[in-house]
Amino acid sequence: MFVNPLQPWPWQRWHSAWRRWSLWTLLVVLVVAMLIIMVWLAGRYEASQVQDKLDRDTAQAVVEIRAGLNRNLQDMQAVNALHATPEEWSVRVAEMLQVRRELLRIEWRDAHMRILRAAQSPYRSVDWEDASREESFSNAIAACSNAKRTSSPAYSPSYFQLLNDSTGAELMEVCLPQLEAGQLKGFMVGTYSLHNILQTQLSKSLTQSQEVSFTEPDGTRLALVGAAWRGSRVFTSQQLLDLPGNTMVLRMDSWHRAPSVFPNVLTALVTGMAIALVSVLIVLVRDNRRRLRAERDLGDALAFRKAMEDSLITGLRARDLQGRISYVNPAFCAMVGFSAEELLGQSFAPYWPPELAEEYVKRQAKRLAGAIPAAREGHESVFMRKDGTRFPVLIFEAPLINAQGQQTGWMSAFVDITEQRRMEELSRASQERLQATARLATVGEMASLLSHELTQPLMAMSSYANGSLNMLQNDGDLRLLDADTLRQRLQDLQSAMQRIAFQADRAGKVIKSVRDFVRRRSRAHESITAQELLDAVLPLVRLQASKSGVLLDISIEPRLPPVLCDVTMIEQVLLNLARNAMQAMENMAPGLRKLSISAQWDESASRVAFSVMDQGSGIPPEVAEQLFTPFFTTKHEGMGLGLSMCRTVLEQHGGELRYRSNIPHGTVFTFSLPVQND
Ligand code: ADP
Repeated sequence: MFVNPLQPWPWQRWHSAWRRWSLWTLLVVLVVAMLIIMVWLAGRYEASQVQDKLDRDTAQAVVEIRAGLNRNLQDMQAVNALHATPEEWSVRVAEMLQVRRELLRIEWRDAHMRILRAAQSPYRSVDWEDASREESFSNAIAACSNAKRTSSPAYSPSYFQLLNDSTGAELMEVCLPQLEAGQLKGFMVGTYSLHNILQTQLSKSLTQSQEVSFTEPDGTRLALVGAAWRGSRVFTSQQLLDLPGNTMVLRMDSWHRAPSVFPNVLTALVTGMAIALVSVLIVLVRDNRRRLRAERDLGDALAFRKAMEDSLITGLRARDLQGRISYVNPAFCAMVGFSAEELLGQSFAPYWPPELAEEYVKRQAKRLAGAIPAAREGHESVFMRKDGTRFPVLIFEAPLINAQGQQTGWMSAFVDITEQRRMEELSRASQERLQATARLATVGEMASLLSHELTQPLMAMSSYANGSLNMLQNDGDLRLLDADTLRQRLQDLQSAMQRIAFQADRAGKVIKSVRDFVRRRSRAHESITAQELLDAVLPLVRLQASKSGVLLDISIEPRLPPVLCDVTMIEQVLLNLARNAMQAMENMAPGLRKLSISAQWDESASRVAFSVMDQGSGIPPEVAEQLFTPFFTTKHEGMGLGLSMCRTVLEQHGGELRYRSNIPHGTVFTFSLPVQND
C-alpha cells in the first residue's frame, strides 16, 4: 500500500508547523532588530554630522570673536592717544564707537589710572562717574595692572552692570597699555558688552539657527543671542575663549526637530529599504500562508482520491513503458489475491495462468510496441488468483499521459466478470427452458390436430387389418383352396400389409415431426436455405391449415443465398407466426382464409426478408400496445409467449420483428436474416 507523504501523522504535522512558525518568528525578529539597528545607526550618524558641524561652527565663532577683539585693539592703538590732542582723541574715539557697537565706552587714562578723557557709545551708554571708576572700579584696574605687568593688552573678568536704560548687561574691560620708548605713559580702557560682542562679531547665519552664549567655565550663562526657536532635540558645543586675563566659554545650542527620521538621504534610504524589506517579508509570509493552504488542499485532494481509489471495486493497475507494474489499487490486490509488494516492479505478472502466460507476454510486447491500440471498449481475458483458481476479467486499457503530454505507461481497469458470466449462463438456461416450454405449449395446442391426423392412418391400418382378418376367416381352411385362389388371397394380404406398413410409416412420420420439433436444439448458427427452413415447418403448418380450411401460399425467390441462423429458433418463429395468422382467420369466411409465407432478397439491408401474411381480423390498437408483452394473450388457451419469444430471437440475429396491416384486412409480420459472408 502507499503512504501518502502529504498526510503525516498529527504529531509530525504539529512538529513541522511549530518548526516553520519558529523559523518565521526568528526571521521576523532578526529583520526587525536589523532594521532598528540600522535606523538607530543612521540617526546616530546624522546626529554626529550635526554635532561636527556645530563644533566647527563654534570653533569658527571663537576665531571670529578673537579676530574682532584683536581688530578693536588695533583700532584703539591706532587712535594713538599719546600723540593726539584731546580733541583729536575724542573725534577718533567717537568715530570708533560709532562703528564698533560692542564697545560701550573708551577711556584714556594716565599711568596712574586717572581718567584723562572718556567717550560713550552713542547706542548704549554706561552712567559712570569718572571718579568712581578711578577709585572703586576694580575690574579696569585689575585689567590694567595685568596689562602693565605684561606690557600687552589684558582683559578683566566679566561683571554685571546696570545701564542707563535701566536694563543690565554683562560687561568686560580691556586695557591697552600706552608705551613710549619702553616707558608706560597711560592706558586705553575699553568696556565691552558681551551681548554686543556676540551680536556684532558672529555671522548672521550662525545666530539664526542656533543659540550662542558666553558662559563661565562653571556653566553660568553670561550673555545670549540667537534663535528663540526650540526643538526637542538639542545639540551643544562649547569652546574656550581664552583671552589674557579672562577665560570664557563660547557655547552653541542647536535644536533639531524630533524625532528627525528623515533628515538626510541616508536615513531616508535606510528607512525606505527597511519599509521595502518589511513589505517583502509581509508578501513572503502571505505567499507562505497561501502555499501552506495549497499544500493542505493538495493533501486533502490526494487523500480524497486515495480514499476513492481504495473504495473502488474496479481493479486499477498502471504499468510503465517497460511493462513493469508501477501501481495497483486495493481492489486489484483483492481480485488477484496478491499483495501490492508482490506485484509492484514485476514485468511478469504472477496472476497470469501458466497455460496462457506465453500468449499474454506476446500481447504485452505488442502493446508496448504500440501495435495494439488502446482498447477503451474493453477486452476479455482470464486471470489466476493466488490460490490457482481462474476467473474471467474485462480489461479496459488507456495510455498513461503525464502533465507534459508524454506517455509514461499504460493504465488498465479490471472488472471481475465471474458473477456476470454466472448470471448470463443462468439467464441463457432459463431462456432455453422458456423456449422449450413454448415449443411444448405449441405441441400441446396441436395435440387435437395430431390426434386428428393420426386417426386417418390408424383407421386405415385398422380397416386393412380387419379386412385381411375377415378375408382369412371367410376362406376357412386355406389348405382347401385351389392354387389360383390362394395366390389371389396372398396377393391381397400382401397389398393390405403394404398399406398397413405405409399408413404406419405415415403415422410414424407425423409423430416423428412433432418429436423432432420438440427435441431439436442446436445452439450454433448454421447456414441454411430459406427453402430448407420452410420445409422443416411446413408439415406442421399444413396439418393446421388443412384442419382450419386455410389456403397456403408459399413463395420463395429463386437463387436466394443461404441464411446464417439458429435453425431451431427460426423454425419456431415461423411456426409461431403461421399459427397466429391461421388463428386470426378462424372467424373469416372459409374462402377468404389465405396464409402467404414468402422469402425474398432485401437489397438495401443485404439480408433475406421473410413475411407471414394473413387476411384475418387485424390487430386492434389496444392489443398492439401489449403485443410483445410476455403472457399477453387474447385467446382462451393461449400462453402469450409466442411474439415476445420471436422478437427476442430475431433481435439476437441482429434484426427486428415488424408488423403492418394487410390490405384489405389482416396483418403482415416481417423479419430478415443475415446471409453468410464469404
Ligand atoms: P398467443 O398466440 O399465445 O396468444 P402471442 O404472443 O403469439 O401469444 O400473441 C399475442 C396476441 O397477439 C394474440 O393473443 C393475438 O391477440 C395477437 N396476435 C398475434 N398475431 C396476430 C395476427 N396475425 N393477427 C391478429 N392478432 C394477432
